[in-house]
Amino acid sequence: MVDLYNPIYIVAIGVFILGLHRMGHPKTAKSGIMWSGFAMAAAVIITFTIPGLSNLPLILIAIAVGGAIGWFAAVRVTIADMPQMVAIYNGMGAGAAAGVASIELLRLSGSFFDLALALAGAAIGSVSISGSIIAFLKLQGWMRQRPITFVGQQGFNVAILAVSLLFGVAYLLNGSISLFGISLVVPFFVLSISYGFLMAFPIGGGDMPVVIALFNAMTGIAVAFDGFSLGNYAMMVAGIFVGAAGTLLTVAMARAMNRSLASVLFGSFGKEVEGPDTVKGTLKPIEANDAAIMLAYSERVMIVPGYGMAAAQAQFKIKELLDILLSRGIKVGFAIHPVAGRMPGHMNVLLAEAGVPYELMLDLEDANRDFPSSDVALVVGANDVVNPAAKKPGSPLYGMPILDVDKARNIIVLKRGTGKGFAGVINELFRNDKTKMLYGDATDSITKLIQGVKKL
Ligand code: NDP
Repeated sequence: MVDLYNPIYIVAIGVFILGLHRMGHPKTAKSGIMWSGFAMAAAVIITFTIPGLSNLPLILIAIAVGGAIGWFAAVRVTIADMPQMVAIYNGMGAGAAAGVASIELLRLSGSFFDLALALAGAAIGSVSISGSIIAFLKLQGWMRQRPITFVGQQGFNVAILAVSLLFGVAYLLNGSISLFGISLVVPFFVLSISYGFLMAFPIGGGDMPVVIALFNAMTGIAVAFDGFSLGNYAMMVAGIFVGAAGTLLTVAMARAMNRSLASVLFGSFGKEVEGPDTVKGTLKPIEANDAAIMLAYSERVMIVPGYGMAAAQAQFKIKELLDILLSRGIKVGFAIHPVAGRMPGHMNVLLAEAGVPYELMLDLEDANRDFPSSDVALVVGANDVVNPAAKKPGSPLYGMPILDVDKARNIIVLKRGTGKGFAGVINELFRNDKTKMLYGDATDSITKLIQGVKKL
């Protein structure tokens, strides 16, 4: 019988790439996910026809158990918990890649080149699974979010990685050498996994999304190495795609935060920024009814969502407010900063989920062009992305492009209290003469604004 799996792999790869392309726009993204998922499923199913496949019942049980847990978790997860869900699923992929590589390493039967590829896949996959577990624990709040640091940390971490690789290479060169009666492949895995834990410890919870993108890229690369080692096209191509996409995403996120990747990985960002409060001006509270009057009699309103909107799940109330403002003939736009929230596209996804039309979502440049002609900028749980400190040399935010909210004629800020943003920097926008603070959970505050506007 002719082997069907390679031609079907090629077709699946083509559909997978088309699916990825469709994911590039919010309107086609859903169908893109379906296309790519279908291609992946086809690739998995056709793999069962590869000659010599054994342990079929065990594989089917593993697929059933894993698939059921994945389905159940995906149905229950809220959008706000998505970063940790991505982290743990990425960890599973990395673990699978390391597991596949470990089988090849234990067999020690391929060429040296194939085994070297398996060793690389095993090392990268092991680091990625343990790092992803720490990322999950920090984002889920089951572990201290603050960076965990100690003296000589970076040197210690590099030494662990180097010794791990040394054991791995020694094992490849002579698989029969042992240490205290244990094969060298064991300390190789233990140290690689430990390095992943150590690598993630000094990274603050807020930086974790960038690091998850990096671990995601590493998982892709581990899968690609496995694919090369096994001669499996589907694994090669899927791994290369995930590796490339993850790397691009990591770089794009670091750039949008105006951080180098090195400062994300080694900078222990997210530590509390202490220091005297030198910002002039006072915080001026406003009542919801007064804020509603300002909105109701505006010609143009710019809504600026941030992490607080996601935390409060306020997007649905925002959509209600939007409809009421539009019905009064008010022009409304949404100013979307590329790193608002805690993951790329966070604001777009939440607002689209609530039914806000894509045409109203403006990127940074377009929004900044429109602020001067806006009567009210309504800041909903955004802080760092509107902090003018980003224009001051020496500030931890220096260089990050921000939304020029201070150019609007009036500013209303919705937040619960005096909590700082992710970077821990005081925000002088909140003390601007034009700014009024509407304190409270964003959902509650917007509900009050809706009631206020409806009365007018
Ligand atoms: P910030 O984290 O800077 O600020 C969020 C604000 O929301 C806080 O000041 C908080 O103030 C307020 N808030 C929290 N909960 C609520 C609530 N329930 N109701 C009302 N307000 C609330 O958010 P931004 O979106 O402005 O900035 C994102 C930050 O995250 C940037 O520094 C970015 O670099 C970083 N980041 C972003 C990533 C991404 O991909 N998007 C990835 C990694 C990091 P209070 O406590 O007083 O309510």
